[in-house]
Amino acid sequence: MELGWLLRGWRTGIVTTPYPTRPDPPPQGFRGRPQLDGERCRIDDGCTVCVEVCLPRALRLETVPNGLDRRLVLDLLPCIMCGLCVQACPTGALHMQSDGELAVRSPQDAQTIVPLEMEVSSDGHI
Ligand code: SF4
Ligand code: SF4
Repeated sequence: MELGWLLRGWRTGIVTTPYPTRPDPPPQGFRGRPQLDGERCRIDDGCTVCVEVCLPRALRLETVPNGLDRRLVLDLLPCIMCGLCVQACPTGALHMQSDGELAVRSPQDAQTIVPLEMEVSSDGHI
């Protein structure tokens, strides 16, 4: 908590901010969510570096319901905003946003999906 907030709370008895009625920009250096740019992603060329470094499996390869195609999914629900994927991505397809507003109406709204054009073998491997 910033010292100014603490002092204001003591003085006025009010401990909350007017947000969301008034915008409340995050402090400088705030690290928000990762963002995935499908145009720059090289998953079709076999890159899976971000999937390997993501400990909570917020970035993962999934088989789509047709059982044949696969896709790269960035799911913000399990994401811990560590930024390791951004450091690891060789193409700059991932970067951190300073956006702290993460409310969504459904779990699917928290996902960014990049479809794979690669063929999948019968044992499910790319
Ligand atoms: S590390 Fe970057 S280029 Fe590689 S799959 Fe992940 S987002 Fe795509
Ligand atoms: S910020 Fe961390 S937890 Fe979130 S997708 Fe990247 S590596 Fe995974």
